[in-house]
Amino acid sequence: MKQFKNDIMRIRLLFSVVYICLFLISCNEPTTISIDSIDPGSYDGTWWNRTPIRLVQTNFPEIYANMDVESYVQSVVDASANTVLFNTGGIVANYQTTLPFEWKNPFMGERDFVRELIGKLHEKNIKYIARFDFSKIDQDIAAQKPEWLYVGTNDKNLEFNGTVAACINGGYYQEYAFKILREVIDNYPIDGIFFNMMGYTGATYAGISYGICQCENCRKRFFEATGLKLPKNDNDLNINEYRRFQRETSGELYKKVTDFIKQQNPELIVYNYNDVGTSWIASESGASMRPGVDNIYHATTNVKRTLGSYKDRIPVNLIMGFQAIGYRNIMSSPNLLRNWWLEDMLHGAPIGFVVVGTLVHYEDRQFIPIVNELFAFHKANEKLFTNVQALNAIALIQGSGNEFQGMMKLLSEEHIMYDLIIPSLLGSDRTPRKLEDYDLIILDDIANMSDELIAIIDNYVEKGGKLLVTGATSTNDERGKPLNRIRLKSLGVKPEFMVFPQAEATYLKVSATDKQAFGQKEFNDFTLMMMNSTFLKCKVKEGAQSYLRLLPSNMFGPAEKTYYSEDEITDFPGVVSYKYGKGITVFIPWMIGSDYNAKGNYAQRALFLGSIKNILGVESDIETNASPLIEMTHLANRNGAFEWVGMINHSGFLGNSVREPVAIHNTTIRLRPLKPVKEIRLLRSGESIPFKQNREWIEYVVPEIGDFEMALCLYKKE
Ligand SMILES: [Zn+2]
Repeated sequence: MKQFKNDIMRIRLLFSVVYICLFLISCNEPTTISIDSIDPGSYDGTWWNRTPIRLVQTNFPEIYANMDVESYVQSVVDASANTVLFNTGGIVANYQTTLPFEWKNPFMGERDFVRELIGKLHEKNIKYIARFDFSKIDQDIAAQKPEWLYVGTNDKNLEFNGTVAACINGGYYQEYAFKILREVIDNYPIDGIFFNMMGYTGATYAGISYGICQCENCRKRFFEATGLKLPKNDNDLNINEYRRFQRETSGELYKKVTDFIKQQNPELIVYNYNDVGTSWIASESGASMRPGVDNIYHATTNVKRTLGSYKDRIPVNLIMGFQAIGYRNIMSSPNLLRNWWLEDMLHGAPIGFVVVGTLVHYEDRQFIPIVNELFAFHKANEKLFTNVQALNAIALIQGSGNEFQGMMKLLSEEHIMYDLIIPSLLGSDRTPRKLEDYDLIILDDIANMSDELIAIIDNYVEKGGKLLVTGATSTNDERGKPLNRIRLKSLGVKPEFMVFPQAEATYLKVSATDKQAFGQKEFNDFTLMMMNSTFLKCKVKEGAQSYLRLLPSNMFGPAEKTYYSEDEITDFPGVVSYKYGKGITVFIPWMIGSDYNAKGNYAQRALFLGSIKNILGVESDIETNASPLIEMTHLANRNGAFEWVGMINHSGFLGNSVREPVAIHNTTIRLRPLKPVKEIRLLRSGESIPFKQNREWIEYVVPEIGDFEMALCLYKKE
């Protein structure tokens, strides 16, 4: 993997030499390359990593266990899925368990539903992932095993629809679950295991919570670990120790379970919501009954953070079809679901769809033909989703909530392609690419940083890297303890700072020099910029360059009294750039992402773009006039067989309703392909299109983008 970027550079160099003598040409060679003839190679030889997984998860109500397995399997075949995730054990066993304290599905009768299903699925080459949910047990078993149960601060167990919550420190999770797993692993040819809701008991599906578990096992274990009494609520003195205890005991259980599974059968993959012993990291994109607008980039976030952070893990982000937990029998907007689904696919991740019930029984069927069609597209082009990796020169480190959301919004709207990396994995050997493979690292209000991580980042800049930093980055230790110093040495400010709290009528004053530096054209129309976040008042280091000046909250209210005077403008800079070693940094000591996420302000956008392009001088490998409504991706096959640009049309978003996207016409794309190109093929419309070539750049126009498009570059034979 480490070689990937170097290989790209080498190929580009060769390519430039090859084309140095060529004139601008228009290419209309006949199209002869068939997708079937492509050899995408393999990422690591496994069936599950960077492979074209199409997963259907049917969350199976117990009453369907008398259904005809053939029609279940046919519905999965019709959907072109190659993997099924199916309720196997835990709350309900859909197989013939011989364990006395596992509740066997009474609707199944004498048949062994799971055995029949696995047999039929495997005949069709469809993998079977067994789903287990150990969070609850049947009420009759619960009555016999009170020591397994969660006990609320009101001294009650937590019951819901005939099930009772189990505590992770009780015998069910710690011992009996292993018997259930062994029974299934020993007797059924499953391909993997998925855990639902594994961990400490929270609120019920209806939002009822009885607080921190007070069961005897928790009481004893917490005392043994800390010598303290269990807290009852968040105001308790021992709460921090308890939260740490929760993290450690959960982590220990995940490790114990995943080690056990690998010991029983090392071939099995584990699919769970964390990275302990897992192969697939689970996440979900689904709507809810919360007020407000759904996050357009929800699935993008989920898949990119795993793709960018782990070379030995893959995200499987499930598109939750249902409207909300309280409305599981009807679907959300098909357009919303399709958008998220396309984000999974066009960022090169597996695709997954969840239905509560089965594809046969579900009553609200508007989305199902769309699912079938999209899955069929993926299947027909599955080689193009095999062994692929994004060609992004920028790494965005996933920071705090709104700051991070705003950064993603800025980058996506501007078609600046980026990888997403989880802060704790930054600089580790688990990431698919090394830090130095990136032209620019963005630290978006990453307050908590270890000394080690700070050294890694400073070192990256010293050796020639570019860095964009916002907010209170590097001011806390790794556990979140405030150190009240800006610790990154590569920034152009002194460590000490004062905090200016968020206040309305606060601006940044823009000077003529600022306009020159960030872009005369983009900054032409304003000399004031909104700033509505916490701001760090910093002193600039010698040799650093400062831009924009803080104009703290001034008079507003009656128009007659809304103005400011020149002497209110401070010397505290809104942006500082600094050359450090061979590299350069830009520090924006406020939350530009969070502000942009809230209001999408054009002046702030101009500042962000000016920082990247003009101050830091980051060059792009892809240029386009695409509408900001198009989310764009650029991936290449690691075996050198192809590369493609993905385009997702988000134009249907209308606040709380998501409608059909409006077709977007004549999108020009210029890019530097990795190898000489023979053909550009649009896979959604099915046409090959002409392209121009100028040295190592090619340029083409996508006539129309409906819901999405995928422009495949096929190379000339070497
Ligand atoms: Zn407990």
